[in-house]
Amino acid sequence: MSENRRMAELLLPNIDKTPDYYEALYPARELPEGARVVRIAPSPTGYLHIGTLFTGMVNRITATTTGGIFFTRIEDTDKKREVEGGIADIIEGLKRFGIGIDEGFISGTEEKGNYGPYKQSQRVEIYQTYVKDLISRGLAYPCFCTEEELAETREKQEALKVRTGYHGEWARHRDITPDEAEKLIAEGKPFVVRLRSGGSEDRRITFDDGIKGKIEMPENDEDFVLLKSDGVPTYHFAHAIDDHLMHTTHVIRGDEWISSTPKHIELFRILGFKAPKYAHVSPIMKTDDETGAKRKISKRKDPEAAVKYFIEQGFEGESVMEYLMTIAASDFEDWRRANPTLPYRDFKFNLKRMSVSGALFDGNKLLDVSKRVVSTMSSEQVVEALLSWSREYNEEFYKLLSADVDYAKRVFAIDRDVPKPRKDIAKWSDAPEYCSYFFDETFTPSYEMPENLSDELCAKILRAYIASYEPQEDRNEWFSGIKAICPPLGLAADTKEYKANPEAYLGHSGDASTVIRIAVTGRRNTPDLCSIMNVLGKERCIERLTAAAEHLEK
Ligand code: GLU
Repeated sequence: MSENRRMAELLLPNIDKTPDYYEALYPARELPEGARVVRIAPSPTGYLHIGTLFTGMVNRITATTTGGIFFTRIEDTDKKREVEGGIADIIEGLKRFGIGIDEGFISGTEEKGNYGPYKQSQRVEIYQTYVKDLISRGLAYPCFCTEEELAETREKQEALKVRTGYHGEWARHRDITPDEAEKLIAEGKPFVVRLRSGGSEDRRITFDDGIKGKIEMPENDEDFVLLKSDGVPTYHFAHAIDDHLMHTTHVIRGDEWISSTPKHIELFRILGFKAPKYAHVSPIMKTDDETGAKRKISKRKDPEAAVKYFIEQGFEGESVMEYLMTIAASDFEDWRRANPTLPYRDFKFNLKRMSVSGALFDGNKLLDVSKRVVSTMSSEQVVEALLSWSREYNEEFYKLLSADVDYAKRVFAIDRDVPKPRKDIAKWSDAPEYCSYFFDETFTPSYEMPENLSDELCAKILRAYIASYEPQEDRNEWFSGIKAICPPLGLAADTKEYKANPEAYLGHSGDASTVIRIAVTGRRNTPDLCSIMNVLGKERCIERLTAAAEHLEK
């Protein structure tokens, strides 16, 4: 047995498979030409960051546009970061925002697909098989350095002002023999397995990034860790093995990984795998409230960093996605104007149109986009969404709505399904305020009447209207009812008449309708008042009109 083979047996005696076994187990995918296989690989921390949602969306739409596959893989090699239910929170979060998953983890506990398991902690034997193969080919070796020894090396390097790290002459165990390793293992010394890098700092590698274009960097020459002392792989190694065996064609990930890409390219080369195409997504940026500078959205400082924030606020998943698409693709908004009713998923997405420097998060724009999305929903959809949001986040409101769902549907049907629907609601947390006057429990009366009319006149308007009010389906007929009470009170029935001769009148029918609006809703600005009064019902309208008249008469 060669020395390398002996070393491999010594370090990983329980591994009895070879890479060929797995190569046969996970054959190439049968997909049409040009189909891209992409994925996201979140850690089960339970915290869904807006950046992960964004990258998830970019991956999803890349797969959709090319007729490919989008899968999820759970990177749980760092057990310290894992929280209970962390997978479910992330996967359910993605689904809630309409990101469909073709393969991998499709809920907190279920996975599907032929290339699993999709959780790294269940793939340890696979990683070790490839590591064993590398050791037996002399391409990896054990390192027994303690934390202290590594720190000592670093200090020396710093003192000598040379590049820190485990490379070249600083790689202490590079030439360790099986005899030495055997002895240390017998002593119970823990070890990691490191790559024997063939790279050189003086040589450069270039790769064509799918978003950022050509990137040139020094080669990797670090003998970086492949397997940690507990036998679990590092991210770098797991990434290479998984994306090879799962036949990922494009690795679209956050740009914090650019600096590691030379390591990954070296790994793919040494392992004899075809490297995927890389595309590094720039982070979403924000203007700092204090300094005014552009910076990365931060988990610590910005509530919007957590996707949960958008859920709590009651943003429709579709709105957030629609907004993120405007950040993701510079040509999306033109497409949207040309195709106002198509789902965003129909947009033909191209990575090359992504911002290289990082797009700015614009909360106001999100509100505008959301208002448009909500304005296209039917009242049934609105009420359904409101019930499910309020059940979780606003119990009082849930009680009001669920007490009479048909009534709620009528409330939200007002000025919907018309050529120019109103855009009052951006997120479900806007709804309680928007519709407060439809419920006696939340109606706040106001008696602040238009400045140009005396309280006495307003009371008279209300009394006259109470005496004659009959609900009307037709807005014009309803308004005729208001016009009819005007002349006896010295108001012009017609606004034009009033404008032609303002001195002759105390006001006009528009003023009268404002008085009625305020009495019925407590507001000056509302959707169509005729419809509002029909939904409220005659009795309740008369009650409110009377209460206002009484108040003004005092
Ligand atoms: N677990 C890594 C992360 O969350 C995955 C990076 C990748 O997509 O390769 O950043």
